[in-house]
Amino acid sequence: MSFTSYMDLALAEAQAAAARGEVPVGAVLIGPGGQVVARAGNRTRELNDPTAHAEILALRAACAAAGSERLPGHDLYVTLEPCPMCAAALSNARIARLYYGAADPKSGGIAQGPRIFSHPQCHHVPEVYDGIGAAPAERLLKDFFAARRG
Ligand SMILES: [Zn+2]
Repeated sequence: MSFTSYMDLALAEAQAAAARGEVPVGAVLIGPGGQVVARAGNRTRELNDPTAHAEILALRAACAAAGSERLPGHDLYVTLEPCPMCAAALSNARIARLYYGAADPKSGGIAQGPRIFSHPQCHHVPEVYDGIGAAPAERLLKDFFAARRG
């Protein structure tokens, strides 16, 4: 599969999150062999858990399956720029590459805000590729918040 099809899987998770009334963000974790090892969407409301972001849920599932707290050689695809919490967790998990869609000026922690991966306390910095499938990810978020305001 190409990186666009992995991002399509992440977008499908974001859509499913929106259908559950969650902020539409989806993530997919890819193993070193190119296999999908975990996929998740936001579940903060459902689980009453402010840490239940798509990235964290995907990390937890993949680490549980691997029996390891670290996922070297793994790639994470997520529809929105990760927040500082998720960025720190991705670094702790030793993720190799991060692909994300839309920028998040409000809560992002990669290219803005605390810029976790540029911080001297960050011990592992993944390769970062942004703007992958950004337009549909942004549209999902805009539609979701417009519907909630309306
Ligand atoms: Zn997050």
